[in-house]
Amino acid sequence: MPIDPTLPYDDNNLFAKILRGEIPSTKVYEDDWAYAFEDINPQAEIHTLVIPKGRYVSWDDFSTKASAEEIAGFVRAVGKVARDKGLVEPGYRMMANIGAHGGQEVPHLHVHIFGGQFLGPMIA
Ligand code: C5P
Repeated sequence: MPIDPTLPYDDNNLFAKILRGEIPSTKVYEDDWAYAFEDINPQAEIHTLVIPKGRYVSWDDFSTKASAEEIAGFVRAVGKVARDKGLVEPGYRMMANIGAHGGQEVPHLHVHIFGGQFLGPMIA
């Protein structure tokens, strides 16, 4: 069920629980700004999610409210996860779903990293 990204942050959302260790996840990377884990239902050979440690519902929320330090830390973490997985060459795809039309299911910003195979053209 897609979420409304304009709603206030819900501390009981799934990824908040993963961040607090209340729900298990397969950790890939963690630093002061971000936590990365394997998607439970992978859509590609490699499908990793990267989430900010801060309480942000969506990319819109994050890009308007996060500090420059948080934004820089998160963006660098996404890049590092892909690099550490050896995806820079031959390449990968990153994306974030936002709101109902984007198909966002979990109301805590998450960037998907897809790779490990030829991904073909972008699909809607
Ligand atoms: O962008 P969207 O909100 O649709 O993505 C949510 C993602 O979270 C899905 O790819 C789903 O497989 C993943 N997920 C997960 N672990 C959970 C619940 C959902 O990796 N416990």
